[in-house]
Amino acid sequence: MPSSRSAYQEFLRAFRSRELQKRLEREDAASRGAEEAPKAGPERRQKRRNYLWDYIRWLKPFFVPIALVVVMAWMTAAMSLVMPRATMYIIDQVLPAGDRRTLHILGFGLLGILIVQQSLDLLRNWRTAILNARVLFRLRQRLYAHLLRLPLHKLSAMKTGGLTSRLSGDVDAITGMIQMSLITPAVAGLKIILTIIMLLLINWQMALAAVMLMPLIITLNLVYLRRVRPIYRSMRHDRAEIDGRVVETFGGVRVVRAFGREKSEEKRYAQRHHTVIRKVLLANWYEYLIGSGWGFVIPLVGLVIIWFGGSLALRGAATVGGIIAFQMYLMMLLMPVSAIVRSYGEMQHAMAALERVFDLLETRIDKPDRPGALEAPDAVESFDFDAVTFRYPQGEIVLQDFSLTVPGGATVALVGPSGAGKTTVTNLVARFYDPTEGVIRVNGIDLRDIRLERYRRLLGIVQQDVFLFDGTIAENIAYGRPDADSSEIEDAARRANVHEFVMKFEKGYDTLVGERGVRLSGGQAQRVSIARAILADPRILILDEATSNLDSDSERLIQESLRALLADRTTFIIAHRLSTIVNADLIVVMEQGRALECGTHDELMERNGRYRAMVALQQRGLSESAAWAAT
Ligand code: ADP
Repeated sequence: MPSSRSAYQEFLRAFRSRELQKRLEREDAASRGAEEAPKAGPERRQKRRNYLWDYIRWLKPFFVPIALVVVMAWMTAAMSLVMPRATMYIIDQVLPAGDRRTLHILGFGLLGILIVQQSLDLLRNWRTAILNARVLFRLRQRLYAHLLRLPLHKLSAMKTGGLTSRLSGDVDAITGMIQMSLITPAVAGLKIILTIIMLLLINWQMALAAVMLMPLIITLNLVYLRRVRPIYRSMRHDRAEIDGRVVETFGGVRVVRAFGREKSEEKRYAQRHHTVIRKVLLANWYEYLIGSGWGFVIPLVGLVIIWFGGSLALRGAATVGGIIAFQMYLMMLLMPVSAIVRSYGEMQHAMAALERVFDLLETRIDKPDRPGALEAPDAVESFDFDAVTFRYPQGEIVLQDFSLTVPGGATVALVGPSGAGKTTVTNLVARFYDPTEGVIRVNGIDLRDIRLERYRRLLGIVQQDVFLFDGTIAENIAYGRPDADSSEIEDAARRANVHEFVMKFEKGYDTLVGERGVRLSGGQAQRVSIARAILADPRILILDEATSNLDSDSERLIQESLRALLADRTTFIIAHRLSTIVNADLIVVMEQGRALECGTHDELMERNGRYRAMVALQQRGLSESAAWAAT
């Protein structure tokens, strides 16, 4: 691991040679997925513009409220122009004439305008907040719905952190874009134009002098954007990396403790943070520099006006009121100019988020139904693999010419060494993936011709690593059938041998499990997940048998509940226990993605092949994996 100093020096080199921005963009692109990384410069820029258009098109339903906000802002902007001009009039005309009455009329008039202006501003801010909230909600909702339906391999490539950061930070960043990309430019643009017109009307020579200072202000802002923002961006990268490592470290804290790595993890954390702190200081330094630039430029503009305007006044080419009004307008001009430049910079950042989110929204969801897709059958009469070959996206071939015919209601035990492709077969049964070649059929119908949502309703899965949601036991049992009433839940629980232990809890089925509730033992959790499957009453069941050695009592209870579950269902078991295997209707011995042997226990024993050898070894007391290895 590089030390903090060398990491920082490396960063400084990139920063000084102005490579930092490019490097960060490359890293961002890479993190979005290797497929898109090598994209040429102009093509990328093209892509960016499209994203912005996508977004603006997406905003269409919000055009009316956006227009409303812009119009309100224009009205306040126009009103704010009155004050300086009125001041000028009072100083140059009213006061020298000693006209008390006009002074009071103007005073009240201006007061009225101020009140209207502030009320309008209040209303506008409120409408903007509502607009933002609606956009935020809608985008988040869309994105979440989309994420839930993305193909599994996309999701696992993104990792949990990536998912949540897109849903939270990225969506927030994008919401600000309405302000940055539409409202700010529209409002600031009009303000600038109107103010410059007012300046020209008062005194065109002074106006030219003031406008000439404008590039200085824009330059200051641009320097900020180009030099300081990449530092912040790089810091965000570092922080994300540190956070990821923290999550990992605490996730694996037992490993850290067991190997006594606390010291080195501590050191790594400190080193990384140290680099970040150096970057913070560098960014601060630039900000102070620019801040003092601003501190110089703003009074400078005032000085130029009083100096140059003063000499004009001495020649009678300007009035005192004119100079004062000028100063006021100038202050009003500076703000929108810096607002535009600043929002341009913020756009750059939001763009990265926009790309990430719209990339996702455009990713095709998992297996959309074919036109005219069929409803799922009510009962399973047969389930066939017909010469199925399969590879995971970007993987090697995992199943090769795999054929299998399962009569409806049969129990199929998939056995074989680890990596043989058993889980893959069940992934295909669940239609988490489709075959690369060949066809899988239920009752003779290609699975791809059945509406996926309907097909999945036929399906139940009980996994080895039981997943229970934070919630009550009843909620967990009813996850697959939220409409089940309490007697149905209890019935399923009884059959899965859950009822007895649940009754020992004070709150019964309303007992919370998971982070905020009780911890169930491995065997209990298994049985809850079996109850869940019993209640859902699937026609096709996938069962990943637990390999962990439970005590014989739990083991017996689980076997009992499984028997209740398996009855009358077409079941695919990734089987590890000899007892399960022996009782199966069909045993498929798999190796390297092929079905090596296939038949009932008796048939396979007669054949005197791999299966028989494995059984013999397992009966001599060898563990399952050792038995496979030895055959
Ligand atoms: P088994 O369940 O028999 O242990 P699997 O079906 O899990 O075997 O795995 C079969 C092969 O497929 C293995 O070589 C494994 O590396 C590969 N594999 C499993 N899941 C994936 C995946 N999501 N992406 C790519 N390859 C995978």
